[in-house]
Amino acid sequence: MSRVYNFSAGPAVLPEPVLQEAAAEMLDYRGTGMSVMEMSHRSPAYQAIIDAAEADLRELMGIPANYKVLFMQGGASQQFAMVPMNLMKNGVADYIITGQWAKKAWQEAKMYGRANAVASSEDKTFSYIPDCRDLPVSPDADYVYICENNTIYGTKFHTLPNTKGKDLVSDVSSCFLSEPVDVSRYGMLYGGVQKNIGPAGVVIAVIREDLIREDVYPGTPTMLRYKTHADHGSMYNTPPAYGIYICGKVFKWLKEMGGLEVMQQRNEQKAAILYDFLDASTLFHGTVVKQDRSLMNVPFVTGDKAMDAKFVAEAAEAGFVNLKGHRSVGGMRASIYNAMPRQGVEKLVAFMEKFEKENK
Ligand SMILES: *Cc1c(COP(=O)(O)O)cnc(C)c1O
Repeated sequence: MSRVYNFSAGPAVLPEPVLQEAAAEMLDYRGTGMSVMEMSHRSPAYQAIIDAAEADLRELMGIPANYKVLFMQGGASQQFAMVPMNLMKNGVADYIITGQWAKKAWQEAKMYGRANAVASSEDKTFSYIPDCRDLPVSPDADYVYICENNTIYGTKFHTLPNTKGKDLVSDVSSCFLSEPVDVSRYGMLYGGVQKNIGPAGVVIAVIREDLIREDVYPGTPTMLRYKTHADHGSMYNTPPAYGIYICGKVFKWLKEMGGLEVMQQRNEQKAAILYDFLDASTLFHGTVVKQDRSLMNVPFVTGDKAMDAKFVAEAAEAGFVNLKGHRSVGGMRASIYNAMPRQGVEKLVAFMEKFEKENK
């Protein structure tokens, strides 16, 4: 067996101890004689799995009692519709456009009400986070929406926007559990877990109870109502059972690592290794404004497409895979989520140094 260093933006690297534990439990989950994949979601064994997952997530994030944790399906993209369908009481919301995912969410919301773009960084290929201290927030806005970490462009809101009292809704897909958060500052946060938590197929939403309403957009399907999921402990229908089980193992792993403060320190150290190298390099350079840099997704270029392609190919050969940038940015992108060991980043940088010398 040989494992590569996987810099994919998602689905992405998972902690090895989690994969090993799942492998060991594959045929016989703790004396049940079956794998978690084969288990009824109504069984006591499975109820214990989902309960522990929720309890551990609540502990890790310090989720207040008046917030629900929902495990759902449909990807983060389904939330682009569920958020306006469930939260637009006045039919108005304000969106901050910091990349493709925010833009898609905004476009989807326009189908259900008046969705205003109150700030955007599209003028400079989303390479920065707009100044959000004094936005033209609509007086009747039901919420202000952000994509907190922009997976494709490599920017992050290091300061949350001033929503002028409106509820903040945040897509945290690619920064979920990468550092501590103050949940009480959000009306709702959500993310697809396949970036920084678990396998594709699970979306986790943390939502303040008073935002879970009966009077949703007319015609909203049962499965697209937060209330349906909240009233049934995320088991109105069959949940993505195996995916939730793996998420639960990742939560335990995060707790063993020391929690989110420790993860933040580790992530800051890992990112600094890569950014410091990029800042000093004569061949490679980062593509975003320094103060808005993401700790999770690090895009970089050489400025020469042929050289970029050569680098990506040689890196893959050397065991550093999925470094090709998103098609809209080009160049390279290294995603260095929680489960990427520091050693992976150090070795990547050593490889980049060698490549730079060879290609002067
Ligand atoms: C990947 C990603 C999405 C889309 O996720 P799906 O689960 O594929 O729908 C949305 N938002 C962000 C920030 C992402 O990184």
